[in-house]
Amino acid sequence: MSKQICELAYQGASTAVGLAEKLLNEAIEKHGVGAAVAYPDTAYKLPMITALSGEEILTLGDIVPVLKRIKENNLRPEPELGNALLSGEATLYAGEIIEALRYVGNANPDEPPYTGFLPDRILRKFGVPLVDGTIPGVAVITGKAKDAKAAAALVKDLQAKGILVMLVNDIIEQCIEENIKVGVDYLTFPLGKFTQIIHAVNFAARAGLAFGGVPKGERARMLEYQKNRVPAFVIALGELDAVTVAIGAGALFMGFPIVTDQALPPELTIPGLLEPQPDYDKIVKLALELRNIKLKIVDIPVPITVGPAFEGETIRKKDAWVEFGGGRAPGFELVRMCDADEVEDGKIVVVGPEIDDMPEGSVFPLGIMVDIYGRKMQEDFEGVLERRIHYFINYGEGLWHVAQRDLCWLRISKGAKAAGFKIRHYGELLIAKFKSDYPAIVDRVQVTLITDAKAIEDKIALARTKYQARDARLKGLTDESVDTFYSCTLCQSFAPNHVCIVSPERVGLCGAVSWLDAKASNEITPTGPNQPIAKGECLDEQKGMWQNLNDFLYSASNRTLEEVNLYTLMDKPMTSCGCFEAIIAVLPMTNGVMITTREHSGDTPCGMTFSSLAGTCGGGVQTPGFMGVGRRYIVSSKFIPADGGLGRIVWMPKELKDYLKDELTERSVSLGLGADFIDKIADETIGTTEESILPFLEEKQHPALKMPPLM
Ligand code: SF4
Ligand code: ZN
Repeated sequence: MSKQICELAYQGASTAVGLAEKLLNEAIEKHGVGAAVAYPDTAYKLPMITALSGEEILTLGDIVPVLKRIKENNLRPEPELGNALLSGEATLYAGEIIEALRYVGNANPDEPPYTGFLPDRILRKFGVPLVDGTIPGVAVITGKAKDAKAAAALVKDLQAKGILVMLVNDIIEQCIEENIKVGVDYLTFPLGKFTQIIHAVNFAARAGLAFGGVPKGERARMLEYQKNRVPAFVIALGELDAVTVAIGAGALFMGFPIVTDQALPPELTIPGLLEPQPDYDKIVKLALELRNIKLKIVDIPVPITVGPAFEGETIRKKDAWVEFGGGRAPGFELVRMCDADEVEDGKIVVVGPEIDDMPEGSVFPLGIMVDIYGRKMQEDFEGVLERRIHYFINYGEGLWHVAQRDLCWLRISKGAKAAGFKIRHYGELLIAKFKSDYPAIVDRVQVTLITDAKAIEDKIALARTKYQARDARLKGLTDESVDTFYSCTLCQSFAPNHVCIVSPERVGLCGAVSWLDAKASNEITPTGPNQPIAKGECLDEQKGMWQNLNDFLYSASNRTLEEVNLYTLMDKPMTSCGCFEAIIAVLPMTNGVMITTREHSGDTPCGMTFSSLAGTCGGGVQTPGFMGVGRRYIVSSKFIPADGGLGRIVWMPKELKDYLKDELTERSVSLGLGADFIDKIADETIGTTEESILPFLEEKQHPALKMPPLM
């Protein structure tokens, strides 16, 4: 590293640390040393400090010795690479402290569009897409692009590639000026200004703490995790002043390469780590190369951008050109396995009016029939593929899709219509995605789109018979009815020792991988993360332990786990990676269990919010009494049967009750708990402590109170 860069990094770090010191002193003067310091909704305090040195920062006073240590140890003027990285580390500490101070006495210091600190729930939400490659990398763009158009083109390109984008400084305003969609819903997070770049870094650090199981304060392990497992890179736009260089040194310290649009002379570059690329059209390509991110390029012949960035996009009624289904017109979607001669590959037929014959604000019927022929296709995969329609369509910018089957509801925005989107493009999108995502089971695809009210009638009836037959088959699919379960080790790229065992009655804890999904995925990639495990000899029927599963677990967990029980959370339960939809926790006083979800940010009777609770049981270790689960597992007949099953649940957030209402009631009835069991489960409106819900449970005669002791 050149002398000049080292000197700039030292200067910048000194400035940042000096500023942190000044602001800390001011805050202490104003609020007192005992004032609490915390980011909202995280289990990791000030994550950079938790990750790198492990000091527990709870008050302003706790920061003083940390900052003193950093100032004494890290700021070394001799221009050497090691010292520049230490300057970078010091800048990360300073940034974390400066940012955290903004939250003292103000839980929400940022105005929209700025997000500021990203809570743990957002990190966990993106766990699966990051590990399965839907989001192949994370770009942190800081500074100001040469002009707004260039900024927009850069971000749009990353969005189309599925990269999660974090924006800092003027590029945010440049993107907004060019109508680029920014926000958490678009995988494009406008963090804020200046030191708010630290929120990108503390997000990455939390990936190591939450998914990687890296213990707090284990600096070397954390840096190794960042270097090997977090596919992040930095694009630094505009002039490089001392503080920018110091922040850059912080990125390099974390192992994130940097591309700058400034024409650096060769002596100022660090090959592979800090490289210039003044040509905006080549910046992304270079950054991806430096981080070794390989993209699967799919050419989809539609006039809109398609990528996971648009999955969360909502299209309001007033912004829709046309809407389909949703109870206002008939709608359905159906994937059928067909014979070779029934499918003409790539054929798209629209039966009924095209979008140009649909007036603005109108409602039409829509049937989406996807016919698939594949030598390795199985009827069981129809449902698996059909559920992908929802994601594929939502990936289109200006397309919106909710629900499924004959309940589906879709909108096409005015923007998409103006861009030239036609009904037939739904077909192009689906054909391209099915063929690229499922090459091993999909050989030929044709799509029929029905917008004619008469023509849809027979087809919807046909679809309904198919749904019924499928449901009947799924009902018969129990843990006993199969001799093979599947592993899922997809999350090992983040949680190296974690193994999910997916059985017909237990969906993966992320909620995204069912037994049929795992089976289909194994068919597609036989050596992939979903391996069949023949159940073999059962060691404990009640707790759900099998010899073969243990053997598999032992080797797949890198010999960190020897045994697993599928049907209990009290004894050698399944491990959790970090992307669970919900967590079960024991409530000793009530002799029951509670469940909370990622969506519920409030307190719970075990004394912890979802985030704090999640912080105690991730990283691929067994934590008896706590377990991450998929939402749907709760209504499975294999819901912790060894612990008493459904009747043990004494508390869950109201939202989860509403979400599971019908199935939970059905399950309660079949278990003899009564149709009103759901009303015996407390929620946040009853109380958020064990003491406060106990009288309610007693009054309702909750069955858990009479069950054998759980502990
Ligand atoms: Fe990760 Fe388990 Fe979901 Fe697989 S099933 S993606 S390992 S959480
Ligand atoms: Zn996971």
